[in-house]
Amino acid sequence: MPTIFTKIINGEIPCYKIAEDDDFFAFLDINPNAIGHTLCIPKKEVNKILDLDEPTYMGLMAFSRKIGKAIEAAIPCERVGMTIIGLEVPHVHVHVIPLHTMKNATFQHKEKLEPKEFKEIAISIRAKLK
Ligand code: 5GP
Repeated sequence: MPTIFTKIINGEIPCYKIAEDDDFFAFLDINPNAIGHTLCIPKKEVNKILDLDEPTYMGLMAFSRKIGKAIEAAIPCERVGMTIIGLEVPHVHVHVIPLHTMKNATFQHKEKLEPKEFKEIAISIRAKLK
């Protein structure tokens, strides 16, 4: 049974896409800790981060860095943080999160956004991709 993230990669479930290459995919988290909260995932379906083969692990970090730089340029924030948890979706993902205060890192505070806002945020991050 494919994960919800594999269904997003395959276009079976909609998302606000940020970027994609042969091996990785980035899209906005639907329940964000902060405006611009993005998930970076390998297309390869693996549950736990430490079970990724080393090239995929390193590639995911490089891809997440690129996305993080675009977020930093697009979203005013104190800094961009990265977190890996995976207790909800069993498909490796790096949370790339604009941080204003510690509350954005806790996964307790959530932003409620309209579809139009998600679209505009995705456009603004995509515009800063190099
Ligand atoms: P974790 O597995 O690291 O605990 O968290 C999974 C993350 O995936 C959560 O932040 C949650 O909001 C996000 N998420 C779960 N389902 C979907 C979905 O269908 N679309 C999007 N864009 N994000 C999702």
